[in-house]
Amino acid sequence: MSYAGPEFESPQPRPRRRPLTLALAVLVPGALLGWLVYEGVGGAADGGGTPAAVNAPVSAPPTVSSTTADDKALSAPLRGKVVVIDPGHNLTNFRHTAEINRKVDIGTGRKACDTTGTSTNSGYAEAKFSLDVAHRLRTLLERQGATVKLTQDGDRPYGPCVDERARIGNRAKADAVVSIHADGAGAGQRGYHVILPGRVHKGIADTRRIVVPSAALGKRIAADFGRATGTKPSNYIGHGTGLDTRTDLGGLNLSTVPKVFIECGNMRDSKDAALLTSAAWRQKAAQGISEGIVSFLRG
Ligand code: ZN
Repeated sequence: MSYAGPEFESPQPRPRRRPLTLALAVLVPGALLGWLVYEGVGGAADGGGTPAAVNAPVSAPPTVSSTTADDKALSAPLRGKVVVIDPGHNLTNFRHTAEINRKVDIGTGRKACDTTGTSTNSGYAEAKFSLDVAHRLRTLLERQGATVKLTQDGDRPYGPCVDERARIGNRAKADAVVSIHADGAGAGQRGYHVILPGRVHKGIADTRRIVVPSAALGKRIAADFGRATGTKPSNYIGHGTGLDTRTDLGGLNLSTVPKVFIECGNMRDSKDAALLTSAAWRQKAAQGISEGIVSFLRG
């Protein structure tokens, strides 16, 4: 409802900067002039009795520099933060059946390296959807100052395998990781849901430290995604909460940093498919995910 469209950014960095720069341009000479006058009348030497207004210019230089730092923090609230985006599947996985069917250790058992993903009934592939949303999301997060890394960017023949996808986030010491998907459920099953890591402590998997922060991340993404896209939480998973918890996904089980999956909609439902195949809707989807990540990282 309050969503203002794909171009909406919060906070708006550029419009802030110009008036502030202008204000500084006016303030700095004024401050210097004040300081010169102050020095000229020997204010520093005569101790007490100096009017506060005359004293003010002395502190002007540090005030100017800290204001500039504040301005930077406002325009790049995610500076210093690392976000890993995991575009689900891979466009050419289907050409590498043997490789993607190889089993990998996910702690609770062994599972296929990767899968081809689903597609709409008209053939729009989930892998294409997830990479497109990932690109849009990367742009939005980089505008906020974040360092963004993708687990794959259409630059490899298959995969990565699910264990490797998790390790990419771990190695990057990501502050947040989101894996982007769209579901392949039945017709009439609609809506988005965010998948949270369940508590797993088995074999090479130990999610105990990420369960709580991942839930916080997931809840914010689910709320912002719903608002930004105007779509409802899944009507077939999560009992209307838009949240599901799983312990059978290698990408979550092996993560040591806060991580969630999002299923943005159901590719096999014609109404959801109409949204998922719309570039304008995908921009809203990326906007919602971005807002959730920003809100999580800013605390
Ligand atoms: Zn998927």
